[in-house]
Amino acid sequence: MAELQGQVALVTGGSRGIGLGIAQALAEGGAKVAVVARDGARAEAAAAGLPGEGHRGFACDVADPEATAALVKRVEEEMGSLDVLVNNAGVTRDNLLMRLKDDDWDAVLDTNLRGAFNLIRAASRGMMKRRAGRIVNITSVVGITGNKGQANYAASKAGLIGLTKSVAKELGSRGVLVNAVAPGYIETDMTSDLPEAAQEALASQIALGRLGRPEDIAPVVRFLAGPGASYITGQVLVVDGGMVM
Ligand code: NAP
Repeated sequence: MAELQGQVALVTGGSRGIGLGIAQALAEGGAKVAVVARDGARAEAAAAGLPGEGHRGFACDVADPEATAALVKRVEEEMGSLDVLVNNAGVTRDNLLMRLKDDDWDAVLDTNLRGAFNLIRAASRGMMKRRAGRIVNITSVVGITGNKGQANYAASKAGLIGLTKSVAKELGSRGVLVNAVAPGYIETDMTSDLPEAAQEALASQIALGRLGRPEDIAPVVRFLAGPGASYITGQVLVVDGGMVM
């Protein structure tokens, strides 16, 4: 079912990992996808590999307010609209609290939280005018539970949940639905340096007995972007194989 036919979706961090999986799922749903990453060549290559026509890759640092405003304008002008925004771009700079540098804090908050704010503010103007839009923010179970060595990352992801709920309340009457997806532990570049023994220990704490993959997250985002989720807003959907409950 191509339920997203005629829609334009923007996926930040869509060049690899979870974001690439989301871009693929939305393209399979019929959407034209704008793939965004700092590495523009990689974003373009990812867009070229998606099923269907009309996808584009864009270089943009989501932490930059002016660049994100210009990006949204370009997508609306060159791709015709912006109906679905997925704030997926994220980084980690893990360390114990006493060793966290100002720069580690700023870099993670600027990309993970400010980046989502920048894009939501820019994209919601057109969505409100059209009285339709879907925004999906990729948070993390760590934003709910906290995690040793990830104070900056957990704060950014908890902030994203507060942002999701506030914007859902502001934009609901204009037909714009805003939700968050909280993945558990997903195998991507972000998590690849964890030793195998630690991965096995983690898997033993997950009800489904395995780590997650981008394909476990992507269909949930496609659902939240589609007609089946038309009465869901302000929610955080945990997709973690039963790691946290
Ligand atoms: P990943 O493999 O490291 O990919 C990160 C993506 O974000 C890349 O496309 C990267 O491209 C882009 N990106 C990073 N900083 C950016 C910036 N400032 N501006 C624009 N794009 C930027 O990460 P992932 O594991 O797929 O994670 C995706 C999201 O899921 C993140 O928000 C992460 O926090 C969240 N998450 C992941 C897990 C997990 O276990 N993997 C669990 C929970 C939540 P460039 O480097 O070219 O910019």
